[in-house]
Amino acid sequence: MITFENVSKAYPDGTVAVDQLNLECPTGKITALVGPSGCGKTTSLRMINRLIEPTSGTISLHGESTAAMDPALLRRRIGYVIQNAGLFPHRTIIDNIATMPRLLGKTRREARKRATELLDVVGLAANFGDRYPWQLSGGQQQRVGVARALAADPAFMLMDEPFSAVDPVVRTQLQDEFLRLQEHIGKTIIVVTHDIDEALKLGDQVAVLRTGGRLAQTATPHELLTQPVDEFVADFVGRDRGYRSLGFASVDGTLETTDEPTARLGDSADTVASQARGEWLLIIDENNRPIGWVRPHSITGRITSGDLNFSGTTASAHGTLRALLDAALSAPSKRGVVVDRHGALVGTVTAAAAVAAIENSDRLDAEVPSK
Ligand code: ADP
Ligand code: MG
Repeated sequence: MITFENVSKAYPDGTVAVDQLNLECPTGKITALVGPSGCGKTTSLRMINRLIEPTSGTISLHGESTAAMDPALLRRRIGYVIQNAGLFPHRTIIDNIATMPRLLGKTRREARKRATELLDVVGLAANFGDRYPWQLSGGQQQRVGVARALAADPAFMLMDEPFSAVDPVVRTQLQDEFLRLQEHIGKTIIVVTHDIDEALKLGDQVAVLRTGGRLAQTATPHELLTQPVDEFVADFVGRDRGYRSLGFASVDGTLETTDEPTARLGDSADTVASQARGEWLLIIDENNRPIGWVRPHSITGRITSGDLNFSGTTASAHGTLRALLDAALSAPSKRGVVVDRHGALVGTVTAAAAVAAIENSDRLDAEVPSK
């Protein structure tokens, strides 16, 4: 647990960057700290590892105030990842990652061994180890930044706009990898971002700061979307809140799907004609995984991959209500494809059935955010 109690920071020029911040960041969870530029996010983060000293208030780790700790020892307990990774340009990737284990007294050999393991953890091949930072893409450098922060196996991780400097496709990949990694490492993490969508995606809990370093609301992503405390938060969270909130609500076990007729690649036009219901027929592979839709009347010989329409998305029977509704809306047949954990077909739902599932879900009964 990282706790802020009445923490303020006024810079010498009088700027109040953080004003009476109270925040609890639970152990093993990701807290996303989000707000507009200049609202005091970086200042808040850097006060935790004492790169900046608070003007007043107390920050504690597991209940122990950081004020009395030796800053160097404190920083060894806290991984720190910044935008553009901040790698040492004249050191190889392996040596960048091995820096902290070396500081902690590991031999060069041990430190390099650990660094090589961490390259694998963040999804980089071992041969990246001998390269220099400038020989890596932005996304790869950012992975190295995460590996370096993990090298001392700290209980806490602070990440300041870690994925902001890479293009949107790579950013999505890095976010997904990061969430998968956190499932295994279970660190206590604070990630700072100005991007509300990133905060909602990454945060178990999201803390919204407003300009002047004042906390506006702390809540789960779902609560933030459905119960913003005031107009500032509502505006900041943005448009399509109702629809986006479906992305944080699960399809429950009671979803009823309809059996969907299917055919396979290579099936003949006759088979297709006997199976088809309406204008579209669903094609599955040998593992019963849906691969696309065909128009039965356009098949003359046998079904080939050239006949497939891929426009529909699939929804997991254990996924989100948003994915369920999207599957129904995107299917050319208007029947959304629902699959199980292995990607095999369960059945289909119409948009009306998806909306009924939304109305029957208990998502609107979510608890009032604890502020
Ligand atoms: P954020 O990370 O949310 O963009 P910062 O924590 O970097 O915000 O900055 C918060 C406020 O403090 C801003 O108004 C910024 O201009 C100001 N600030 C940051 N660092 C200093 C400094 N060293 N001296 C004076 N003002 C600063
Ligand atoms: Mg900042």
